[in-house]
Amino acid sequence: MTTPAWSRTASAAPSRQAAPLDLISLGRRVRHLRKGKGLTLDRLGEAVGTVASQLSLIENGKREPKLSLLKSLAVALDVTIDDLLGSAPPSRRAALEIELERAQRGPLYASLGLPTVRISSRLPLEVLEALVGLQGELERRMDEQVATPEEARRANVELRAVMRERNNYFPEIETQAHAVLDAVGYAGGPVSQHLIADIAAHLGFSLHHVGDLPHSTRSVTDLKNRRIYLTQSQRTDHDPRSVLLQALGHYVLEHRTPENYGEFLRQRVATNYFAAALLLPEKPTVEYLKRAKAAKEIAVEDIRDTFAVSYETAAHRFTNLATEHLDIRTHFQKTHKSGIIYKAYENDGVTFPQDHTGAIEGQPSCRRWTSRVVFDVQDKFRAYNQYTDTPSGTYWCTARTERAASGEFSLSIGVPYAQVKWFRGRDTDIRETSFCPDESCCRRPPADLAREWSGQAWPSARAHSHLLAAMPPGAFPGVDETEVYAFLAAHSG
Ligand SMILES: [Zn+2]
Repeated sequence: MTTPAWSRTASAAPSRQAAPLDLISLGRRVRHLRKGKGLTLDRLGEAVGTVASQLSLIENGKREPKLSLLKSLAVALDVTIDDLLGSAPPSRRAALEIELERAQRGPLYASLGLPTVRISSRLPLEVLEALVGLQGELERRMDEQVATPEEARRANVELRAVMRERNNYFPEIETQAHAVLDAVGYAGGPVSQHLIADIAAHLGFSLHHVGDLPHSTRSVTDLKNRRIYLTQSQRTDHDPRSVLLQALGHYVLEHRTPENYGEFLRQRVATNYFAAALLLPEKPTVEYLKRAKAAKEIAVEDIRDTFAVSYETAAHRFTNLATEHLDIRTHFQKTHKSGIIYKAYENDGVTFPQDHTGAIEGQPSCRRWTSRVVFDVQDKFRAYNQYTDTPSGTYWCTARTERAASGEFSLSIGVPYAQVKWFRGRDTDIRETSFCPDESCCRRPPADLAREWSGQAWPSARAHSHLLAAMPPGAFPGVDETEVYAFLAAHSG
């Protein structure tokens, strides 16, 4: 048989993780055997040459017995040392008691601030079962939560591969959006809030604006009574038309309850696509874009203004239609002011930063890219345009920043150098060079700053609120060393 963990750690310093658990099992086993023999603590204490209080500490898993005492206990209880240290609990009840004891001593239970239940023979078995069952379920859910970001990254990678292969164009959703618009007599131009209410009515849904929509939701659909609940609040980052169209999208696209994160993500992309395909209908949008291309005047802000949508929606929609209808390959990026990429798409060969799973979301964008430089531009009225030489070629990008409740973001659209002739803003003389993902480009602090501050800075990382934000590598995960060093340099006088 294998050596029990307890005896492995007995002579060395006890392992912080294994020892308490094994002491609990040992203590329960001693108590079970003692009671089975009808012995009091005093009687067993006399038999093994120790006092009742010491035995009690051992039975409660709070003291580690010396090997000599362990041998005496085995003799007095008529078992072998292996029996005492064995892994199988002596009874179902003992197993539950061990489990509850272990849980109550763990950090998760401590974090709940609940009173500790005294584990005694008077505790009913079903209460024990319930407490242990709840603990187990809570731990399982915590584990699931921890596991999600990794699963989310992989699901994002798979989804991006599909979008790239299809040039981000989904004709089946275009067809469904077209049918819905046809049914309510859409005649062209921006899609009004009024028309969208007509669409909801056409699909058999009534709209209800409420003041107590759950904080974690943008809308809630009651499929039984065919009602859609929306917030009354005016303080929303999201176009109310998009929120409603996304809710209707789940219905029109016949989505079922997602079984995993990947399916959840695919559905979200599909409903976003559906909403955009209604706000910027394919036919008039493509006609508009073809005219702009012929005039060599393509500009995302013009799409935004013509169809009365957000810059982000306009940029997204451009990526749906650019390759299929205009023969233009492109990339899109939504980047937080901290430099972390929130959303990205490309079919033009641009090299986005990636983690080991191939995920782009959560990675820091190159400091020399348009998506980062735009934050320093004072003129927020016009789009910022820049040429960037990268290891995978020269790209021209156009970007804007927008403020949302969760911070300031840049939204950028880029194309390979050969395609820039179709875009307004191609005459910019701003040109940057990026070596990323080579660390020497912008990930490592400049040599003079590093010399001055390496080993002299102790920043405390702000926790990333974004689910997908992976920790960039470095001495302090989640902290941008260059920023910290530059900050120190500026403030130290
Ligand atoms: Zn860089």
